[in-house]
Amino acid sequence: MIDYEPVIGMEVHAELLTESKMFCGCKVAFGGAPNTRCCPVCLGLPGSLPVINRRAVEFVVRTALALNCRVNQNSIFHRKNYFYPDLPKGYQISQYGDTPIGVNGYVEITVNGVTKRIGIRRVHLEEDTGKLLHVEGDLSQIDYNRSGVPLMEIVTEHDPSSGFDQINSADEAREYLVQLRAILMYLGVSDGKMEEGSLRCEPNVSVRPKGSDTFGTRTEIKNLNSFKAVHSGLLYEIERQKKALSRGEKIVHETRRWDDARGRTAPMRGKELEQEYRYFPEPDLPPLSFDPEWIEEQRRSLPELPQQKKKRYIEEYWLSESDASVITASRALAEFYEAAVSGYRDPKVVANWVMGDFLRLLNDAGVDANESKIKPEMLADMLKLVDDGTISGKIAKAVFAEMFQTGRPPREIVEGKGLVQITDESAIESVVKQVIDENPNEVERYKAGKKELLGFFVGQVMRLTKGKANPGIVNKLLREKLGG
Ligand code: ADP
Ligand code: MG
Ligand code: ZN
Repeated sequence: MIDYEPVIGMEVHAELLTESKMFCGCKVAFGGAPNTRCCPVCLGLPGSLPVINRRAVEFVVRTALALNCRVNQNSIFHRKNYFYPDLPKGYQISQYGDTPIGVNGYVEITVNGVTKRIGIRRVHLEEDTGKLLHVEGDLSQIDYNRSGVPLMEIVTEHDPSSGFDQINSADEAREYLVQLRAILMYLGVSDGKMEEGSLRCEPNVSVRPKGSDTFGTRTEIKNLNSFKAVHSGLLYEIERQKKALSRGEKIVHETRRWDDARGRTAPMRGKELEQEYRYFPEPDLPPLSFDPEWIEEQRRSLPELPQQKKKRYIEEYWLSESDASVITASRALAEFYEAAVSGYRDPKVVANWVMGDFLRLLNDAGVDANESKIKPEMLADMLKLVDDGTISGKIAKAVFAEMFQTGRPPREIVEGKGLVQITDESAIESVVKQVIDENPNEVERYKAGKKELLGFFVGQVMRLTKGKANPGIVNKLLREKLGG
């Protein structure tokens, strides 16, 4: 049986977070009543002329730099001609051939302890199309609000002659997407919302006998709107191709659709039937020409990126690789973490709260760290209350949840709800006595050697004091009274 290896290339489209569209002043925003954010330019009316959105160009240059690309000092726009109702002009303005804004970069990923630099072939700028809604039967509706929204395309390189590594598994493909999305969100150029379609991914995949130096015929998978779909779609397609080749069949170069409900891919259209796009330079737009000094200025002003941040957390805060990965996955979470650490100097304790209770509450509420009512200094203050014995670790969990709900500072919650820890020995002692009196059988068994019953007594004291008794004192007093 031949051992096959997959080779994967990823095409990612990201709608850019600009105020206005690529070539006109219409607002960019998700949703809105259909066809209310349109003008003669983005509707492609005759005689209208496009004007380049400077901010969109800046976003793509910054992305290219963040992806370690070379930025072409001169690049141009092209017309990609095809006729489809979501494209009112009859062509899409894009960047073709060897003149994209960025070329020859890489994204670093680590999967199962192996680090790879995935080659980036190109980063270019284009415009989004309108949105077709297939209602039912042969009725379709069209919304041009999306038409002309700035769209960035990022394509990986599968050929190792680029000097970089290739993607060889569904796991690596998903991790590439996770890393790329984090970078785009750190840069603030994309909102990363795959479910809303502002970040879209089309993987290309082929398989070949391991060790072969030629590539197999690839297929392209469309309609993927989550990490899970990218992963499952690739797993399915890799298996399908392996089986087909083992049976002596040929892979057809085609575009396939991912059917999430059925968990399989199905042919959509053959590549040979795809349009001849008749690209030519866009005559209505000037070429882009960047001052090298301006490019350097962009490079200098890039934010700290996820991988750099992660490395710094490991060195500066002594976090484990996996803790650092979890926290730096979102820029907002990382910024929260750093601010909390500056108020409470135990990075590991802060990390546990951020990755545990905080992340869980954020996920349940579906919000990002910067949208939360808890501010970093509130976490720091709460941890100080634990340290000085005002509240127990258990009560801290309740206080944290309350802070998340209300945004009130921890001391106010603790005082308002009477959650202050009981450290008065005589108060705890009377409860300990009560528990011992009420449970003679357990006391007898404990004295006969069943020492693990201590936990039971501690639990009873905690129940009666509503979790407020200082656990150290409770343990000490119980041991004294029970003997042992
Ligand atoms: P298209 O113009 O048809 O979309 P591209 O040449 O731009 O094709 O390639 C799209 C993606 O597919 C790139 O990431 C590229 O590296 C990848 N790719 C190309 N050929 C293969 C192949 N034989 N196997 C796997 N991936 C491939
Ligand atoms: Mg393609
Ligand atoms: Zn417009």
